[in-house]
Amino acid sequence: MSTGALEDLSRLCVHTITTKPWDIVTAAKNYAAAGVKGITVWRDTLEGRDIKQTGNMLREEGLNIVSLCRGGFFPAADKSKRKIAIDDNRKAIEEAAALGTPLIVLVCGADPTQSLDDSRQQIQDGIAAVLDEASAAGVKLAIEPLHPMYADTRSAINTLAQANDMAEALNSPWVGVAVDVYHLWWDPSLEQEIKRCGQHHNLLAFHVCDWNVPTTDMLLDRGLMGEGCIPIRKIRSWVEATGFNGFNEVEIFSTRFWKEDQSAFLQKIIKAYREHV
Ligand code: ZN
Repeated sequence: MSTGALEDLSRLCVHTITTKPWDIVTAAKNYAAAGVKGITVWRDTLEGRDIKQTGNMLREEGLNIVSLCRGGFFPAADKSKRKIAIDDNRKAIEEAAALGTPLIVLVCGADPTQSLDDSRQQIQDGIAAVLDEASAAGVKLAIEPLHPMYADTRSAINTLAQANDMAEALNSPWVGVAVDVYHLWWDPSLEQEIKRCGQHHNLLAFHVCDWNVPTTDMLLDRGLMGEGCIPIRKIRSWVEATGFNGFNEVEIFSTRFWKEDQSAFLQKIIKAYREHV
């Protein structure tokens, strides 16, 4: 019975930020023991660590390193800040290669002192500037559209249509998109745009959590799957209809859950994953 139960988790990935109180070694051991098969590594967990060794440690635990979070934050009215951002993305590509993950998720950024159009152009230019390094390292870049409530400072790319437009304009095998249900569930053209990124082979990642009703914090009140109003299974069915067979990545930022015992929270995640994803 237990083998069958574990098989259900073969495509479950957890983001390290979801269990923020755990360092990466603790997270890896606990994920593996619980039957989780994938891990997306947030860069803060790598600070002060040998990245290559950390990648080996994760693989020795039997975990698939799905992606590195996050690159991006390209736009800035100040040119010197744009250059710093591009350099940081080059560093992220090196880190991803050292870790041994094929993907970096981009939170693209925005600067409220300039227009969203200007920010979008700088995002496109920033990605174009690091494409040679991405290709040389064998690391793909996923443009993640963020909910429009973050259009001020976190991302000028707020719909999957905008992400698809940019990925298609860049027209590189090293650039695609990440679909996160939290950011995109409300969009009436979501099904069509998921189909579109499938047709262009641009769908690189799928992130899940839920939208709490009401949401009490714009950043740190994401819900566990099944707690809110996102039709996760329906969106997953659209994603899989494109041929996507990657991981379902649980990405929850929540001060409420971070206060709980993280082992108990991980068990809640697994139960919610089985019931609602
Ligand atoms: Zn996400």
